[in-house]
Amino acid sequence: MERGPVVALVAHDAKKDDLLRLVEEHLPLFAGFHLLATGTTGTLLARELGLPIERMAGGPEGGDLQIGARIAQGEVDALIFLRDPLTAHPHEPDIQALVKVCDVHEVAVATNLASARALLLHLDRRHGQMRLVHPSAQNG
Ligand code: PGA
Repeated sequence: MERGPVVALVAHDAKKDDLLRLVEEHLPLFAGFHLLATGTTGTLLARELGLPIERMAGGPEGGDLQIGARIAQGEVDALIFLRDPLTAHPHEPDIQALVKVCDVHEVAVATNLASARALLLHLDRRHGQMRLVHPSAQNG
């Protein structure tokens, strides 16, 4: 069976509502993804939208680094990381490391709503093409 893209989701506290709305607006698309998220972000999305999500530790407790490790292992196709650029974060080095590992491994990363929407369009198109290219995947 065809596997959907693996997409990691992280949102700082001031951006969690934005991420929730974004996922809600694209719920059928997200339902086709394998989702990873940092602790509080994942708990919120699972509770509000009922999506199955592989949850890591909370961001400040190392969750960003856990997602970064999965990226380094080639297990993640895209990261949506809604950062709050106007607040200081105690785990700033982890945030930097997470974005850096995306650059090292050429993993698409969106850090605001506008780029997240563009990335979702891309994933939707690519996922659709995979279904066209592999019609056998739809038959069993
Ligand atoms: P959280 O982590 O989802 O556990 O809030 C996000 C972050 O602060 O990086």
